[in-house]
Amino acid sequence: MSDCLFCRVVVKTIPAKIVYEDDQTLAFDDIHPQAPVHTLVIPKRHVASIQDMGESDQALLAQLLLTCRKVANDKGLADSGFRLVANTGRNGGQTVFHLHFHVMGGRHMAWPPG
Ligand code: AMP
Ligand code: ZN
Repeated sequence: MSDCLFCRVVVKTIPAKIVYEDDQTLAFDDIHPQAPVHTLVIPKRHVASIQDMGESDQALLAQLLLTCRKVANDKGLADSGFRLVANTGRNGGQTVFHLHFHVMGGRHMAWPPG
């Protein structure tokens, strides 16, 4: 979708610090990092949120999580740990409506989140 920010990152008309890419997923650093490591993992195909994923998307969902794991390991978070977040919808605090997982680490993450 041409009016979607993260679709533009996928086609590289908006610059991003891409840290990993495969056939179906893309990972790039968040522009306003909230932790020493803060990377976003997205499907290359436009999907608004986890609510738009279905039975036929099982392989893509698995690939997204494996990309999150790879990013966390590549960023040196294997031992210290990290947090995965998928803000979804209004109460979830989602602001960009192209599915993304936040991979965050490098500091202790408080719980519960705000
Ligand atoms: P959310 O609030 O969960 O929808 O997260 C959207 C995230 O996208 C925020 O953490 C923003 O800082 C981040 N963001 C917005 N625009 C860009 C961009 N052009 N490049 C990288 N990250 C971005
Ligand atoms: Zn999109």
